[in-house]
Amino acid sequence: MLRRSVIVTAAVLAAVLGVQTGAQAAPAPGSAGAGDVYYPKYGNGGYDVANYDIRLRYYPDTDRLTGTTTILATATQDLSAFNLDFVLATQSVRVNNRPAGYARRGDHELVVTPARPVAKGEQLTIVVQYDDVPSEVVASGFTSWNRTPDGALAVNEPEIAWWWYPSNDHPTDKAGFDVSVLVPDGVEAISNGVPTRWAQPVIGGWDRWSWRQDKPQAPYLAFLAIGDFDTYQDTSADGSPIVSAYSRRLAPATAAAARSSVERTDEILDWEAGLFGPYPFGARGGVVTGAGDQGFALENQTRPVYDGQSFARGSNNSLIVHELAHQWFGDSVSVGQWKDIWLNEGFASYAQWLWSEEQGEGTAAEIAAYVYSEVYPADDPFWQVLPGDPGATRLFDGAVYDRGALTLHYLRERVGDETFFAILRTWAETQRYGDGTTPEFVALAERISGQELDGFFQTWLYTPERPDLGVSTLTAPVRPRSWPAIVAARH
Ligand SMILES: [Zn+2]
Repeated sequence: MLRRSVIVTAAVLAAVLGVQTGAQAAPAPGSAGAGDVYYPKYGNGGYDVANYDIRLRYYPDTDRLTGTTTILATATQDLSAFNLDFVLATQSVRVNNRPAGYARRGDHELVVTPARPVAKGEQLTIVVQYDDVPSEVVASGFTSWNRTPDGALAVNEPEIAWWWYPSNDHPTDKAGFDVSVLVPDGVEAISNGVPTRWAQPVIGGWDRWSWRQDKPQAPYLAFLAIGDFDTYQDTSADGSPIVSAYSRRLAPATAAAARSSVERTDEILDWEAGLFGPYPFGARGGVVTGAGDQGFALENQTRPVYDGQSFARGSNNSLIVHELAHQWFGDSVSVGQWKDIWLNEGFASYAQWLWSEEQGEGTAAEIAAYVYSEVYPADDPFWQVLPGDPGATRLFDGAVYDRGALTLHYLRERVGDETFFAILRTWAETQRYGDGTTPEFVALAERISGQELDGFFQTWLYTPERPDLGVSTLTAPVRPRSWPAIVAARH
């Protein structure tokens, strides 16, 4: 570390003094994308973020959001300019204590030009001030900021960060997060991680809510839920904070059903830790929004956000199992490319099958047989979508979930239970707080099983037809009792 910092200091000095060295290239703009094949402009090149400090004030009556976000980053090349992904009206940008130039380019790129070039390895402090009405800011044809009757939700995938803080918006650049929100007295503002200030009164009828996420987090997994919520705080056996919140707009029976599921979060995390290895984060909990507010659940890191509608007909533990399994597969281990989305959704879906087996509502083998032969007959267009390369417009297609889970189930049958769970645990451990791609997962499965599995994964992930299982395994599958709940939790 010391040797590296000496080299960095020399590079910084060279840049500041304008010294030309033979090996040094001229500073150049960082790229406008992180190299994602589906979303070439998502994320940016040239720097690596360590922390976001997001300080906001939100006016529920008008949906006005004002804020200052401070980004701590390190330049990964000599930079003359760099991009942030951001769409709100910006008042000022400062880089390393000097006003910087900035300009909108395309529909979600903010190009920042520092007053002086930044050398590779140099620390960057980027301060962005902004003021806008996010629900009225359209980018790529939509806004993901969701204004509700009593507040707002910043919950979506893959695009949500653009509407509330500037970022390097790709799962491969994770960072710590501090989120601090000023809201009118009586309004709750919930986010990820540990609450560091709980409704701290501020002069003039405003309260400050502050949250700290100290484990690396992908930008899209940061969330805000502002509105009228009933909140509950507890502590897990290991001392970690448990925070759950329920919209006060929920019907009483729905709120009770939601609580009966979400309050089992700690227990379900323990069960999943037994399968996948230690829970990668400390803080935990869940947020339940008004019925129909966003229409889906999302695995926001440490604290998934559920739509109240999911509990309108009673408790829904399968959904909790799905979103919590994402804490290992999706949040701690994120996709290296968005095309690898089955590594999130196939795994979280398979956790539901395992939960069904645990609950005596149908074994994973019974669910697999039913899905394969009854839910999706061979001529169903379902089999045309490739879980390993679904295309950007089918990122959340049913095949990503159900064929992804089938892939894992038939991998399990092929390598045996002990090897299969060793593969899952090793994946969660070796890629923890980072990301992974399908080829990396295939290589790991081959290494641990000692089997050549290219053909197996080619068939299950990349072939537009129903794989041939052989008829003997498919005698008259019946619908497992858990199937409706599994389908309802396809999020
Ligand atoms: Zn999911």
